[in-house]
Amino acid sequence: MKAVVIKEPGKVSLEQVNIPNPPAGFVRVKVKAAAICATDLEVLDGNIPANYPLTPGHEWSGIVDAVGSDEDAHWIGKRVIGSNDVVCLKCEACRSGDWRYCKDFEEIGFKRNGAYAEYVIVPTYGLCELPENVSFVHGALCEPLGVALGTLEKAGAKFSDTCLIMGAGSIGLCILAAAKAMGMKKIVVCATTEKRLKIAKKMGASYTIATKEQNLIEEMKKIHPNGTDVVIDATGIEECIQQSLKLARKGGTVALAGYGRGKMMNIRIDDIHVNNLRVVGAGNNWNQHKKAVTLMADGLVDIEHFATDLIQIEEYEKGLDLARRRPEGFLKAVFCYE
Ligand SMILES: [Zn+2]
Ligand SMILES: [Zn+2]
Repeated sequence: MKAVVIKEPGKVSLEQVNIPNPPAGFVRVKVKAAAICATDLEVLDGNIPANYPLTPGHEWSGIVDAVGSDEDAHWIGKRVIGSNDVVCLKCEACRSGDWRYCKDFEEIGFKRNGAYAEYVIVPTYGLCELPENVSFVHGALCEPLGVALGTLEKAGAKFSDTCLIMGAGSIGLCILAAAKAMGMKKIVVCATTEKRLKIAKKMGASYTIATKEQNLIEEMKKIHPNGTDVVIDATGIEECIQQSLKLARKGGTVALAGYGRGKMMNIRIDDIHVNNLRVVGAGNNWNQHKKAVTLMADGLVDIEHFATDLIQIEEYEKGLDLARRRPEGFLKAVFCYE
C-alpha cells in the first residue's frame, strides 16, 4: 500500500509498504478520508515525541476490512471513525477511566502509524460507527471537533455562558461550532488578521476581533464588561495566554487548548490568584468521538466546509505545504482515497 512516511524529523516521502495485519483486539481500516492537522507538522518537524519512522494522521474515517479477533467480525464492512488511544485496559489508570495516563499509552499518528496511508490499524474498543448521513470527510473531522467538545467539558462551560476563543485555527473554529451548538452566548473569536475571522463570522460568531487592528482588551470591555465566563486559548502563544488571564471574569475559567511547543512562558500569577480563576489544561480528545459524530448526524454541527482542499495521497507535499502556509481561504487539506 501507499503510505506517507516520516523517516526522521524533516524527512518525509511517499513509500510502498506492506499492508499491515491487525493483531487481536485491533481492526484494519481502509482509510477513506484523513485530514492533515497542524500537529502533524510538529511531528514532521520533530517538536512532538513520536516513533520514527512514522506514518502520521490521527483525523481519519474509513471502512473496516479485516479484524484481529473473530469476535470482532461484525465490524467488517462498517463505516467507522475511532479513538487513537492505544492502552492496556488493565492497569490502575485504565481501570479508573483515566486511560490517557496508562503507562503503556500510545497514540495513533504519533507513537503508532496513522492514516496518511491506504490502511490503518486501530483498536476495536475505540471504534464508533459513522452514520450514513455523515460523509467520510466530515467524519474524519470528528477528531478535532472532539478536542473542542473535550475542551468545553473540561472548562465546565454551560448554556448561556459567555465565551472568548483566542485563535481561529481548526481547533478554535471547532470550539466555536461546539460552543454555538451547546448554547453559549456572545461568543467572541479573535485572531491576528481578518483572514480566518471571515470564516468565524460565517459560522455564527457573535463578534470577531482582529488583534493586529483592534485593541483586544478595550474591545472586550465593551462586549463582556464584567469579563468572560469561559476564555479558551487555542493558540499556545504566550501573549494570548497572558491576555486570557486578564479577560476572564472574576471566578471565571481559562482553558488552555493550544500546544505551547515546550516553551517557558511568563504569566502574572496574581491574575489567577486575586481573581480566583480556574485554569484548566485541555490538550486532547478524551473519548469524544461518539458525541462529535452525533452532533454532526443530528445537524447541530456542520464543519464539512473545513475540508477546503481534497487531495490524493500522491499530493502529500502540496497538502503539507498548504497546512504550513495557511493561505487565504484554506482551512484543511484532506486525503481522500477511493
Ligand atoms: Zn489533529
Ligand atoms: Zn493501562
